[in-house]
Amino acid sequence: MRTKLAAVGMLLAVLAPAVSAQTVTRYVRFQAGGRVAWGILEGESIRELEGNLFEAPRPTGATHALAGVRLLAPVEPGKVIAVGLNYRSHLGDRQPSAYPGLFAKYPTSIVGPEADIVLPPDANNVHYEGEMVLVIGRRAKDVPESGALEYVFGVTAGNDVSERDWQRDDLQWFRAKATDTFGPIGPVIARGLDYDDLLVQTRLNGETRQSERTKDLIFDVARIVSYVSRYVTLLPGDLIFTGTPQTTRPMQPGDVVEVEVEGVGVLRNRVVRGN
Ligand code: MG
Repeated sequence: MRTKLAAVGMLLAVLAPAVSAQTVTRYVRFQAGGRVAWGILEGESIRELEGNLFEAPRPTGATHALAGVRLLAPVEPGKVIAVGLNYRSHLGDRQPSAYPGLFAKYPTSIVGPEADIVLPPDANNVHYEGEMVLVIGRRAKDVPESGALEYVFGVTAGNDVSERDWQRDDLQWFRAKATDTFGPIGPVIARGLDYDDLLVQTRLNGETRQSERTKDLIFDVARIVSYVSRYVTLLPGDLIFTGTPQTTRPMQPGDVVEVEVEGVGVLRNRVVRGN
């Protein structure tokens, strides 16, 4: 009997990674044949959904080849909140703050995978910031830290594109952080990962520039959601950028920037000069 139990235990141990991998669901929003829909990404194929992603959408029965559709930003948020200075490796000489430092980006700054990051003609110091981005799934107001994770639908990868001269000189970070196209997100919303321990990496023209795990966040996911909800009612589809690690550098027109979040995939965007 003991031998049999041990054998079952070994089998479960072997199966465990596969079982937990199956609990992760990857949602995409895509355009195909002039229609826009959400779907579940499975390998190279998308199972189309109908209805609101945050209100129990149903499969339509249609499937699409990933290669045959255009992926869009996986959600159109009502608001976009960001945490600044949330990795010690990004602080430099600065001391960690006692509470999360928040700022806003605009929904119109959000673009999807493969979209261009458009530099306004007078933007000369635009940096990448690779980040894990929370996607809120339920209305959240005054939620305690314990249980705050229940309000997170999933996570995506994001680039908190930042014009450093404007960030330094302007009255607020309005232009520096919220200019159109300064918020690429995607390619999927991954649900069911351990959001407090994912590798975040940024590559510029194929060269790794940032690489750190979300376990190093000064304020973790539950703390961020709870803290924000004290002041602002979070609604389904709202986004929270969680902060960027290490150092950042300027991007130039023609550069290709990639943000990869473990379990989410690679968000790739090209930098172009606007007119
Ligand atoms: Mg940032």
